[in-house]
Amino acid sequence: MNADFRRDRTRLVEKLRGSGIHDLAVLHAFDAVPRHAFVPEVMQHRAYENGPLPIGDGQTISSPMVHAVSIQLAELKEGDHVLEVGTGSGFQTALLAELGTIVSSIERIEVLSVRAAKVLAELGYDAHLEVGDGGLGMPERAPFSAIIVGAAAAEPPGALFAQLTEGGRLIVPIGTRDQVLYRYVREGTGHTRERISSARFVPLIERSTP
Ligand code: SAH
Repeated sequence: MNADFRRDRTRLVEKLRGSGIHDLAVLHAFDAVPRHAFVPEVMQHRAYENGPLPIGDGQTISSPMVHAVSIQLAELKEGDHVLEVGTGSGFQTALLAELGTIVSSIERIEVLSVRAAKVLAELGYDAHLEVGDGGLGMPERAPFSAIIVGAAAAEPPGALFAQLTEGGRLIVPIGTRDQVLYRYVREGTGHTRERISSARFVPLIERSTP
């Protein structure tokens, strides 16, 4: 097998294209970022399957389709400032950087953040990573053109709305057992909400959660 999984990666991009991912920049990012570098070595042969994989500490790297849908919904362009909640493996962080956005990402589990930072640096991707509660966003770096939340919140995360630009997009799964992926768009002091699909994410750990 080719060491950089070139053929598997091309096949994955074709699969995404055939499943409703039409944003060429997003498809290009999937072609450019080596997903296998973000998963444990024993999982690397499965890195280009369209499924989630364990990354340690009870967490998972989301499936490629989940990342592709979320990023496409965020409608990003070069130079946009984007916040990712739940750095996890850092793979989506790399996709966002590959799109030419200015990426801030927050993760509550320090070892994951440290590992993601190392892989991102090795691959030459620039992103601002912090360890902390992403449910609170990153007010000191706000506002963001888009916020992508990679874990399911029990309730719409109020703190994040205030950190969006006018017209900014918040992509967030909501629910505990039955989750729904939503896109919110900030309009003035309010927002519109669009239901995207049912979803299955790990829970967003909130401050009141024991
Ligand atoms: N896009 C990442 C998603 C990882 S799973 C990837 O594919 O690799 C979701 C991540 O959100 C986990 O790493 C989990 O630790 C993190 N997370 C959960 N609650 C959080 C919170 N309140 N603040 C920051 N990160 C959180």
